[in-house]
Amino acid sequence: MSFTAPRFAPPERILMGPGPSDVPRRVLNALASPTLGHLDPAYLAIMDEVRDFMRQVFRTKNELTMAVPGTGSAGMEATVVNLVEPGDEVIICVNGVFGGRMKDVAERSGAKVHAVEAPWGQTIAPAAIAEALAAHPAVKLVGIVHAETSTGAMQPLEEITKLVHDAGALLLVDAVTSLGGVPLDLDALQIDACYSGTQKCLSCPPGLSPVSFSAAAVDRIMSRKTKVQSWYLDMSMLKSYWGQERVYHHTAPINMTYALREALAMVLEEGLEARWARHQLNYQALRAGLEALGMKYIPEHSLPSLNAIHVPEGVDEAGVRKRLLNEYDIEIGAGLGPFKGRAWRIGLMGASSTRRHVILVLAALESILGLSGGTTAATKVYG
Ligand SMILES: *Cc1c(COP(=O)(O)O)cnc(C)c1O
Repeated sequence: MSFTAPRFAPPERILMGPGPSDVPRRVLNALASPTLGHLDPAYLAIMDEVRDFMRQVFRTKNELTMAVPGTGSAGMEATVVNLVEPGDEVIICVNGVFGGRMKDVAERSGAKVHAVEAPWGQTIAPAAIAEALAAHPAVKLVGIVHAETSTGAMQPLEEITKLVHDAGALLLVDAVTSLGGVPLDLDALQIDACYSGTQKCLSCPPGLSPVSFSAAAVDRIMSRKTKVQSWYLDMSMLKSYWGQERVYHHTAPINMTYALREALAMVLEEGLEARWARHQLNYQALRAGLEALGMKYIPEHSLPSLNAIHVPEGVDEAGVRKRLLNEYDIEIGAGLGPFKGRAWRIGLMGASSTRRHVILVLAALESILGLSGGTTAATKVYG
C-alpha cells in the first residue's frame, strides 16, 4: 500500500488581523533557499548581517541584539526571565492582554509584581508610574507595552523612560506590534530591553523574536546571583552563540533567519521614516473610511498598525468576519477580553499597510453591511 498525501494548498488570504500580516514573495522565497549548517561560515555571516539589520531597525548600538527562536512571546519571556531574579520588585503596566501576559511571566519568574493598571483601550499615565515608583523604591524594572494589540492603544514612552531611569530602574518595552510600523528609537528613548516579533509590522512568517538589551541590562544579567530559570532563553549562553565565540547552544532556525534577513532588508530599503509615514497615511485613510461608515475607534490614542473599533449596534460580529473571510479572503481580528464579541481589530501592518488593503476592506465591509461612503472618504485622504 502506498500513500499519497492530499494536495497541500492553503488558501491565499489577505491578512488584516492582529498578525500575521501578508508576507511578501521575496521573504517567502528566502525561506526556500538551501538550508546551511548553523556553524557554516556562510551562515555565520548571515547571522552577523541579520544582527546588523536588527540594530538598524531597532535604532540601537546595543551589542546584545539577536533573534531569539520562537514567536514574540518567546522574546517577552527571554527579556523578563533574564532581568528578574526571585524576590525582585518590578512594575508591570497592564492595559490589555499583553501587559497581563508580561505580568504573568514576571510572577512566574518569582518577581514581586506591582501592577499599574489602566482600563482596556486607554494608555498608562506617566503620573501613575511616578506614583508606583515613589511607593516602591526598590523596584528594579518597569515593563510596558508600546503597542497594545488587544486594544489598539499606542503608548507614549518619552516621559515614562525618564521617570524609570531617574528612579534607577530599567525599562522593558514590548514592541511586537510597533517595530517597523510605528516610530521607535531604542537608543533615543534609552530603552533597556526590547522584544518584537516577525509576523506583525516586519511581515515575515512567525517564528523568531528580535530582542535587544542595553549595556545596563547586560550588566544586570551578568551580575545575577541566581541562574536564569529558563535554560533555553538564558541570555548569558545565547550571547555566546550570537557573539564572536559561536558556542553551540541550539540550532538556529536557519531558514527563518533567511526570511527575517529579507524582511529587515525590505524595511531598510524602504527607510524607517518612509515606512512609518506609510503606516500613518494608510491608518488615516482607513480611519476616515470607517468613521464615514459610522464606526467608532476604541482607543483614544490609536496605533497606525492596529485599528480597534466597536462593532456597530445590531451587527453580527462573528458573522461579518466570517463573510469577509469566505467571500473576500480577508482576515480581520475579533475582540479579546472585555471586547470579545464587541470589537473588530483591523491590522495595517507591514506589507498589509497599503492603499489596496484599505480600499479593499472598506469596500468589502460596505457590501456586507449595505453601507456606502467609506471608500470615498478614504480616497480623499490619499488626495
Ligand atoms: C502578538 C503580540 C505578542 C505575542 O507574540 P506571539 O508572536 O503571538 O507570541 C506580544 N505582545 C504584543 C503586543 C503582541 O501584539
